[in-house]
Amino acid sequence: MPSHLETEIEFLKGVGPVRGDVLRKELHIRTWADLLDYYPFRYIDRSQILRVADIVSDAAHVQLMGEIISLKESGEGKAKRLTGIFRDESGVMELVWFRSLRWLKSSLKLNMHYVLYGKPSEFKGKYNMVHPELELLANARITAGNPLKPVYNTSAKLTQVGLTGSSIGKLTLQLVDEVREQIPETLPPAIIEKFRLMNRADAYSQIHVPSGHEALEAARRRLKFEELFFIQVGLGKEKLMKTKHQRGVVFSKVGELFNDFYNRYLPFQLTGAQKRVMKEIRCDVGRGSHMNRLLQGDVGSGKTIVAVLTALLALDNGCQVCMMAPTEILAQQHLETVSTLLQHVNVKVALLTGAASRSERKIIHEELESGELKFLIGTHALIEPGVKFQNLGLAIIDEQHRFGVAQRAALWSKAAVPPHVLVMTATPIPRTLAMTVYGDLDVSVIDELPPGRKPIQTIHRTDASRLKIFQFMADEIKKGRQIYVVYPLIEESEKLDLKHLMDGYESMVRRFPLPDYRVSIVHGKMKPEDRNFEMQRFVKGETHIMVATTVIEVGVNVQNASVMVIESAERFGLSQLHQLRGRVGRGADQSHCILMTGLKMSSESKQRIATMCRTNDGFEIAEVDLQLRGPGDMMGTQQSGLVNLKIADLARDHQMLATAREVALEILEADPILSSEENKPIREELERRRMKSTDWSRIS
Ligand code: ADP
Ligand code: MG
Repeated sequence: MPSHLETEIEFLKGVGPVRGDVLRKELHIRTWADLLDYYPFRYIDRSQILRVADIVSDAAHVQLMGEIISLKESGEGKAKRLTGIFRDESGVMELVWFRSLRWLKSSLKLNMHYVLYGKPSEFKGKYNMVHPELELLANARITAGNPLKPVYNTSAKLTQVGLTGSSIGKLTLQLVDEVREQIPETLPPAIIEKFRLMNRADAYSQIHVPSGHEALEAARRRLKFEELFFIQVGLGKEKLMKTKHQRGVVFSKVGELFNDFYNRYLPFQLTGAQKRVMKEIRCDVGRGSHMNRLLQGDVGSGKTIVAVLTALLALDNGCQVCMMAPTEILAQQHLETVSTLLQHVNVKVALLTGAASRSERKIIHEELESGELKFLIGTHALIEPGVKFQNLGLAIIDEQHRFGVAQRAALWSKAAVPPHVLVMTATPIPRTLAMTVYGDLDVSVIDELPPGRKPIQTIHRTDASRLKIFQFMADEIKKGRQIYVVYPLIEESEKLDLKHLMDGYESMVRRFPLPDYRVSIVHGKMKPEDRNFEMQRFVKGETHIMVATTVIEVGVNVQNASVMVIESAERFGLSQLHQLRGRVGRGADQSHCILMTGLKMSSESKQRIATMCRTNDGFEIAEVDLQLRGPGDMMGTQQSGLVNLKIADLARDHQMLATAREVALEILEADPILSSEENKPIREELERRRMKSTDWSRIS
């Protein structure tokens, strides 16, 4: 039997060219199969019908059953509204509409039974309901004893062509009936059995036309698993390609440089986590495949030493190393750290940034090509065309979020065999996200801070405490400490923010005047040279207070800074707050973070501030961030395709994701090209997905 699933959507009964067009444009629904994939976003439980007289609060949505006994239009222009009186056997309630009035007037029927759903609001002791969802009882989809009615998202454009939530429901109901027998299974029977998954045809049928709570739950579980599984199969294949088919340089020996440094000059004992990560890295680079490793570790967890030790492995095996940082200041700091660490071992290290003069560049280029220069640290300048390595074996990238895949690729092109890549990030990502967004990388985690750190103390204050805070700052400065004061700067209100920053700076200067105090300021509107100059003054300890916007957020290391004051903290995201706080607490002194906010805060802001006050653990903070914001927002738009899922939820379905990943990798390990009979359903589904994506790229 030929499958109808790939039929164009306009040929589904009840759709036609006009609606077909809107479905394509609004929801990317192009075929019947796409409509099947358009899941309800919630369900109304038909068995839960309340009476008007029983409504006791306006807190939750309620479902009522009754009739509209009158309709009246009032007001002019924007204030125009339609009011209806709704009645059930217990009482009456007012319904109000402000939009789509003409359509409502022509379609609402008086004295017919409706099922109504919405959020009541209280007004002068009575309840009313604005824009309730309504459905004629006669039309309500009641399949024998089935209480769950699916609700589909719709939009103004869809509604205009009559595609309301319930008419989409009618289409899916009819579609499920029609194609049920043709819905192919995409998972091997063994997996279905092992994880007790519902079969795919039933799952589609149940998600659109649930026969009860349990069946619906089983359908959701099946579809979630499938969604996560196929993402992981895709990532797994990519990873396999990289490790199996891309040969990497082999660092076969641990040589003199590494051993000499490790035994004689390592300034401290490695933490257990650092040792574990080193083992993971050595295993990667020793086996001849290509390393692509993400090193996650909270601020101050000691990623740099891991990078340096890995570099020594490369150097011992005759390879060059480069280390790329997102800003000039960071690159400089890395140069200092690396040079200091390696001062007693014989390795030539140099810095290349945009600031390098032409003659400096020329020397570096020559020494790189001749192989004399072994270790190059820098910014984006490292990937400029003029830079050619003789034998690049390892690329270390710090603070990954600022670098894209394209830049990683540009680094690769600088060597005959792609260098091993170690990406370091101090922005912890929840495990589920890491498995998805970086699913093609191996992930190492440093989850332990070096010993002896005093946890940063974080408090929340408002303007009322300003004088006390000034006093506290003065005391800390007297002890010889330095202080950051950070202001938000976001593009939409740039001018206003800049004004706040300058006002803040001026009041700082008034309170902390010369000659006893020196206050620096940096912000994104300054010339890079000026900014750098001011930063350096603070780094060298020449100024006491650094008033700044978030330009200081990443990586700066001033051990003597012990206080971080964040102004308008309610306007920062969690990961940003955590990054900012990470600028202090780097030395032996007790450090403090003071979150200043206004009195009024949204409940989300309150949660963010409370989380910051409660914990210093970046991974815990990242989990809260994921719950609050959702994965798409958290990762930015670039990767949202991977993380904005149809049905699975990366913030909640941890366990299932882990399982799906494990299963996917196991299958690929045993059958990399999925050629077995058992894996045929997977292979065919991948093929369908491939066809679909090429179709799309042809159209758009
Ligand atoms: P990050 O992971 O934020 O890049 P760094 O590598 O800059 O952290 O390390 C932070 C500080 O901790 C540095 O001053 C470093 O010398 C120190 N450090 C790193 N590892 C250890 C360790 N095992 N024991 C003691 N101090 C350490
Ligand atoms: Mg660092």
